[in-house]
Amino acid sequence: MKVVKDEYTGMTDTDHQRDERTEELGRRLAAVHRRIAAAVDAAGRQETPDLVVVTKFHPAADVRRLYSCGVRHVGENRDQEARGKAAEVADLAEAGLEWHFIGQLQSNKAKYVVRYASTVHSVDRFSLVEALSSAMDREQGRRREAGERMRPPMDCLIQVDLDDRAAADRPAGIGSRGGAHPDEVSALAAAISQAEGLRLRGVMAVAPVGLDPVPAFDLLQQISGAVSAAHPGATWISAGMSQDLEQAVAAGATHLRIGTDVLGPRPDVG
Ligand SMILES: *Cc1c(COP(=O)(O)O)cnc(C)c1O
Repeated sequence: MKVVKDEYTGMTDTDHQRDERTEELGRRLAAVHRRIAAAVDAAGRQETPDLVVVTKFHPAADVRRLYSCGVRHVGENRDQEARGKAAEVADLAEAGLEWHFIGQLQSNKAKYVVRYASTVHSVDRFSLVEALSSAMDREQGRRREAGERMRPPMDCLIQVDLDDRAAADRPAGIGSRGGAHPDEVSALAAAISQAEGLRLRGVMAVAPVGLDPVPAFDLLQQISGAVSAAHPGATWISAGMSQDLEQAVAAGATHLRIGTDVLGPRPDVG
């Protein structure tokens, strides 16, 4: 194995394996994998969903530790934070680590996201489809000129707003803003599938804050069925966080986004 020195801690990968935080992350990660396996069994499913470990608010050194524990998919919800961390551990992307963008995305940040992310889970409007597609075109052009390898198309999921409460009646929290109305999903899917540089993969949602996730995830599964009927490659369902991963697995989630239960509490929600 190649010995990589961590530029922050000065530790090598081997040191990391003995580091206490790495051990803690490894234990927490194993517990989450056991929960997922139990949920898969309980649901009678054949395939285990992919785990995207949400590293927001935690340092790049933790991303490196998670990589040493076998994690290959990490998620972030803010471009500025994600961009910085991805740059700090750029060697891991070369070694197979993928960055998933899972938060509200401003169109003017698309040009940054195409540099480091493999997947955007939160496509929720036509203007963002356009922004991502033209950012991909420019990014590929930049790479071509720089003699760098082309990147794969951007995998895109449509974030669906499953909350039927009026905006003013929603408690603050993850996913309380953003997401396309269920009625807009099929038109957005068509737009992504026709956009140069983008690859439609499926749908994503956050369970409405303070409500039972079961009916919400059932609705997401129905919407996914309609999307994949029209676009056969678009079968991904990104759903399930630390609190509701079992319900998400029962509703067919293919990608779980877990932060707290792997990394511990964050200083703030976001
Ligand atoms: C933070 C976040 C998660 C992870 O939530 P946890 O409760 O910490 O597991 C998942 N999805 C999105 C969109 C997030 O912003």
